[in-house]
Amino acid sequence: MIVAGIDIGSRAAKAVVMSNGAIISSVIRDTGPESVKTSRMTMAEALKGTGLSLGDIQYVVATGYGRVLVPFADENISEISCHARGINWYFPEVKTILDMGGQDCKAISCDGDGLVTNFIMNDKCAGGTGRFLEMIAEVLNTSLEEIGELSLASRNTIPFNTICAVFAKSEAIAYLRKGVAKSDILAGLHEAIAARSLNLLKRVSIQKDFSITGGIAKNSGMVAKLTEKVGLEPLLCEDPQIVGALGAALFAEERCESAGSQGKQVHYGYTDGTGDYFITVDVGLCDGCGECAEACPDGVLIMAADDSNQPKAKVKEDVRKSLSLLCPGFFSCSNTHKVNCHSVCPKDAISHSW
Ligand code: SF4
Ligand code: SF4
Repeated sequence: MIVAGIDIGSRAAKAVVMSNGAIISSVIRDTGPESVKTSRMTMAEALKGTGLSLGDIQYVVATGYGRVLVPFADENISEISCHARGINWYFPEVKTILDMGGQDCKAISCDGDGLVTNFIMNDKCAGGTGRFLEMIAEVLNTSLEEIGELSLASRNTIPFNTICAVFAKSEAIAYLRKGVAKSDILAGLHEAIAARSLNLLKRVSIQKDFSITGGIAKNSGMVAKLTEKVGLEPLLCEDPQIVGALGAALFAEERCESAGSQGKQVHYGYTDGTGDYFITVDVGLCDGCGECAEACPDGVLIMAADDSNQPKAKVKEDVRKSLSLLCPGFFSCSNTHKVNCHSVCPKDAISHSW
């Protein structure tokens, strides 16, 4: 079973491809100005080197703020549910999650099955988010990747009373002008963010096993401050930034399992600069009669055995990457050929995207 999850976040887009319960590929890239384009590029990158195409993926779940803009997703699910589900795959014992994203921060409570029981979100102000840390890194003329380590080198943490993006920025600039070490400024800001995160966590209850997800969980300085403030060592997975996409892929897997072959759709084709060219066969409906392959004037369709040795309609392997050159699409074909794959299919099991 091949499924995928895609998380279109405010700062980064992530995708995870799974085959039979194992992650076979994952990717993280910047979110561009156009979510649709970003989603296509992210998935294309995730599939690179896997030998798979989008048509091979049986179910795609999209999450993140841009989830409704993923044109190839079968379903979209909130990032809160996906983070809980994703972290449960790594650590079933985790019941409290702090998701520190690019534009907001969420405290999530979940049960042992990764189902959300409570959550609270701070999305009113940029303070303490990935965007905020990016801005501070710019002010201090350092990179986002370096600020965590740099904060750990602090000898004299500067107290920050606010992490309001505007005031904290002015305060940081003022300290810098006074010659305060960057590491001390950063330690102060990390501490202020950790204090605010602790308040958020307290509002959903903090359980012994807790985890941090999202891009900020890769910041060692932030993890150290949170460990100190919360008084617990967080469980961190290999890449906390892909947890939402992983959760989405796990939901996709569940959907496939519960559907069995009923209603399972196989997409053949591709997307290029001119549009989407996919022929979709609902293999749950297809009874293998072979009418469509016989009716197709251009020999696009063939019959082949599926995993259970049942005949199903498929698009010929060698035309999948140049489908639009051979098949004019449903409407054009219907105009020129009264008898075509759609008109002869007794199960309405075949459809075109163009
Ligand atoms: S629309 Fe026409 S050309 Fe395309 S697959 Fe169906 S029958 Fe063949
Ligand atoms: S005509 Fe319909 S039911 Fe028959 S093989 Fe083609 S897709 Fe399947």
